[in-house]
Amino acid sequence: VAERDTRFFTDWLRAAAEAVAAEEDRLTELDSAIGDADHGSNMRRGFTAVVAALDADPPGSPREVLLLAGRTLVATVGGASGPLFGILLRAAGQALGEAERVTDQELRTALSAGVAAVGRLGGAAAGDKTMLDALLPATAALPDYAAADRAARDGAAGTVPLRAHKGRASYLGERSVGHEDPGAASAALLVGALTRVSR
Ligand code: ADP
Ligand code: MG
Ligand code: MG
Repeated sequence: VAERDTRFFTDWLRAAAEAVAAEEDRLTELDSAIGDADHGSNMRRGFTAVVAALDADPPGSPREVLLLAGRTLVATVGGASGPLFGILLRAAGQALGEAERVTDQELRTALSAGVAAVGRLGGAAAGDKTMLDALLPATAALPDYAAADRAARDGAAGTVPLRAHKGRASYLGERSVGHEDPGAASAALLVGALTRVSR
């Protein structure tokens, strides 16, 4: 059974920060079509701050890594995505015990708890054209990381024909159809980063 330590979780968030920085312009373009054109800069600012926080005060357990990262996102990202990605990581961290190593099954359970918390905070469900459309199928596919990566990408691509029912994009009504949801795209980047560091 693979076990994931503090270093693994730190590496995940560093890889996520790199992916977000590399895709910043694409995320902002997606948000310019159905939002307010700030998703790329929101996410880049948030994950840059996460890496800085991890460097400044290296956490001692997987739980502490996720709690610190979640807190940092809430504190630094304005807009809907900060509190939502923040609670994803915080609730996942809370679901982990104090153990120095967690199994892939425990990781899956923790991330599922995080995704459920996103649903409770934002009131969205599958098919509402949000980050959940990437996160729900991805966590369902874990602990198969490659399958989770595919599911997240397919989930994000699958938001294109959907009409938004939550967040800013929902103000557009029918005009939100035909565009990929930016938060689903960034959620897929986080899952892709997880998949890369799992190898
Ligand atoms: P804002 O819309 O405040 O500018 P961002 O642009 O950073 O914030 O993030 C927008 C993303 O947040 C959307 O693409 C969507 O995936 C996600 N989002 C917005 N509202 C919700 C919600 N209620 N539940 C889940 N995700 C949401
Ligand atoms: Mg926005
Ligand atoms: Mg905004």
